[in-house]
Amino acid sequence: MSNVTKKDPKKGTLHSGPTSISKIPAPKHWVSPVPFGLGKIKPKHIRDTMKVAWENKDNLKYATNILTKGVCDGCALGVSGLYDQTLKGPHICTTRLNVLRLSTMPPLKEEIVHQDVDKLRQYSSAELRKMGRIPYPLIRRKGENKFSRISWDDAMDMIAQKMQTLDPKQYAFYLTSRGITNESYYTAGKVARFLGTNHVDNASRICHSPSKTALKRSVGIGASSCTYKDWIGTDVLVFWGSVASNASPVSTKYMLAAKKKGTKIIVINPYKEPAMDKYWVPSNAESALFGTQVADDFYQVNIGGDIAFMHGIMKHWFEMEEEQYGSAINHEFVQNHVNGYEELKAKVDELSWEDIIHSSGMPKERIRELAELLANSKNAVFAWALGLTMHSFATDNISQVANLALLRGYLGREHAGLMPFRGHSSVQGTGEMGADPFVLPGGGWDEDNVKRIEELWGFDLPKWQGDIVGVNLEHAALPDDHEKKLKLYYMSGGNFLETMPNPEFIEKALSEVDIRVHQDIILNTSTLVDAKEAVIVLPAKTRFEQEGGGTSTSTERMVYFSPEIEGNKQPVEEARAEWKIYVELAKRVKPETAHLVNFETAQEIRDEIAKANPDYDGIQHLKKQGDVFQWGGAWLCEDGECPTPDGRGNLIPIDIPNLEKPEGTFYVTTRRGKQFNSMVFKENDPFNNAGRYDVLMNSKDANTLNIVEGEGIVVYNQHGVFQGKALFTDIARGNIGLHFPEGNFLIPKGIYDSPSGIPQYSVAVKIEKAERFNARKDIDYLEKKLEDDEIDAPV
Ligand code: SF4
Repeated sequence: MSNVTKKDPKKGTLHSGPTSISKIPAPKHWVSPVPFGLGKIKPKHIRDTMKVAWENKDNLKYATNILTKGVCDGCALGVSGLYDQTLKGPHICTTRLNVLRLSTMPPLKEEIVHQDVDKLRQYSSAELRKMGRIPYPLIRRKGENKFSRISWDDAMDMIAQKMQTLDPKQYAFYLTSRGITNESYYTAGKVARFLGTNHVDNASRICHSPSKTALKRSVGIGASSCTYKDWIGTDVLVFWGSVASNASPVSTKYMLAAKKKGTKIIVINPYKEPAMDKYWVPSNAESALFGTQVADDFYQVNIGGDIAFMHGIMKHWFEMEEEQYGSAINHEFVQNHVNGYEELKAKVDELSWEDIIHSSGMPKERIRELAELLANSKNAVFAWALGLTMHSFATDNISQVANLALLRGYLGREHAGLMPFRGHSSVQGTGEMGADPFVLPGGGWDEDNVKRIEELWGFDLPKWQGDIVGVNLEHAALPDDHEKKLKLYYMSGGNFLETMPNPEFIEKALSEVDIRVHQDIILNTSTLVDAKEAVIVLPAKTRFEQEGGGTSTSTERMVYFSPEIEGNKQPVEEARAEWKIYVELAKRVKPETAHLVNFETAQEIRDEIAKANPDYDGIQHLKKQGDVFQWGGAWLCEDGECPTPDGRGNLIPIDIPNLEKPEGTFYVTTRRGKQFNSMVFKENDPFNNAGRYDVLMNSKDANTLNIVEGEGIVVYNQHGVFQGKALFTDIARGNIGLHFPEGNFLIPKGIYDSPSGIPQYSVAVKIEKAERFNARKDIDYLEKKLEDDEIDAPV
């Protein structure tokens, strides 16, 4: 069945709406004929659902209303109420159910919120989260060991007065991704510029800025070129460094529908993630009973070996071309729509198979196998996530994926495309709304766009380059008299202590700021860090409480409207809509001109977004539950026409990165268990039973170190020490996996992908038996040997 229904003169082909999943049983995709995965390690969806219902029993009607009327504030897959745009039938998952409590729980009790901060610090973020919502504005001044209540007026005045004394380069804004709406992102980005600062950054940029940077330079776009519906019936669906089934559980239903249409699913990841191998889709009776064998094949490429692996694919394509012209490359597409073919070919030709095999860790035959599968497939969709984006060479990783797509012409049509697979609901919209140091609504910082936005907003924009969050934090730790010293950090959500590399440094940086503002729903460990003058905590409304509703944009560019939902039995009376707080701040810092950023209603914001970002023309018409539109139509770069200056895609020659992995070391990366971003819901991952401090390693590597399964081991480098237990898993040799954020102690700060500013989250480490490490550490490690400085544990 075709995906195509209508064409719009401006947007091109429009999405055709949800389709149905085949009801014909397909035993060839079953995990086992034994029902319900008996005897297998797997999630218990029904039990988890019952638990959530019990948790929300004090606000059950409101919880039900959120689920049936709201837009999910979980992941970026996107769903309005219980229905999405991809498949007919209900759409719900345990991630959504797990975050539901954030919106239904009562405010924190006074005796908790006002207890000694050292007592509060004994709680984990998960425990703090479960205790309730921030009840009213709070303050903890220097030297005070308890939060006390402060009025909204006094809190806002204090923040505003401090800002008035500072150079705008000395304060920064940060917005996380916990259900914040486009309206709030837009207002925050606008108010930050109105106040004179370009230091405004967001969580989505940390995760996927390389996707945007790379797609822009390769094909001129900053978002997924295709839709989820294109998965269903494509020949090959490749997940690159993505555990989509864990991050966005309902995506497994789309994968099941795709498999039933004959799609082959390929997963490229160092660890054979069990959730991408076998899954029991609860909303599909056949899959719930017998399970679904998700991936048809896994390619367990080294951490950081993807560029070499893709070079291998291209090398084999060029070899095939020598045998037979047109056997691998889509020459018609390349000739009509692509630049740089000869330069890329020259780069690939100069690489040896030895280099490719060494870096990727994959045998030549396996690389050739995938190359041939793709060469023989008319259609493919490439989806990727943090396994490709969290590297110092992440932008190159993604451009290399685009190279593959351009050589095969997998772009701008049904069942083909490039899809950065996003994490949290609304992250796609963050940058598009301009809450990002590198962009403005509707474009970048080029002269024309700056002029256009200045005319629309009615004030001059600060013209200096704003800093990314990691650099802001480094500047927070500078001496007081340093001209770049950050003195006020205004955060809408976020928990840097548990998300950024090098938590010890982050704690120091947070405590070195004069005033820290945490506009949030709950307390977390970062909120409890001291500040030099004061920590101010402001209670925010959830997206479901926001007056006039709010919108969020999914991975596939669907802009969903979520209405204000009535009936919360235990509201936080003093909480405010986030966009209103930003407007209020502007009024207090610059009262004379604050009318320039004043919004009275959410509708006014949407009206302005439609003008500020022409892609969002249509958002102003979203007014009620179920309203949705897709910006850009079904496919960006439709018919191969890219929005680049010459309308063509660019093949980019990429070097194989040097991973700086000394002999005898392992490469470590972090992974998610039963969690959503840094929110951990279960100590043990239901897919592999791994505990949070288990070190996922290959048993053959363990043998070489005489490590037995379950044994205490130490993973260390010059940045930190991680004490855990060995868990033998199917992970590529020489690579290990730790959970995020527990493994962050090993990750250095200050290493970024230079084009996009994303921090690197993978690094070389040594592993040792705990008993040996601990027995020798006084001798070997505290007397740090200079010659081995690069990998020694910190003193
Ligand atoms: S898959 Fe994502 S969008 Fe869908 S219900 Fe789950 S968390 Fe929400």
